Amino acid sequence: MKTSGIVRKIDNVGRLVIPKEIRSVMKINYGDPMEIIQVNNEIAVRKYNRGCIFCGNNKDVMEFRNSLICRECEKALKEE
Ligand SMILES: [Zn+2]
Repeated sequence: MKTSGIVRKIDNVGRLVIPKEIRSVMKINYGDPMEIIQVNNEIAVRKYNRGCIFCGNNKDVMEFRNSLICRECEKALKEE
């Protein structure tokens, strides 16, 4: 994990602003879904990417029993 050296305060309703420079570099835009992960004593934030449960691809995916699967993995499953 890389530290930015930037310290921000949480506002009165619990919000924390991700610095513009980091949003720009990571291509995070207004309205993008973000996933908040708690790992022991730390909190990580990452772009929410709901994709194929096997390969992570988020293009050409379909839902199957509450999970997403892409066409390529679906095809590979059928062939095995
Ligand atoms: Zn896949």
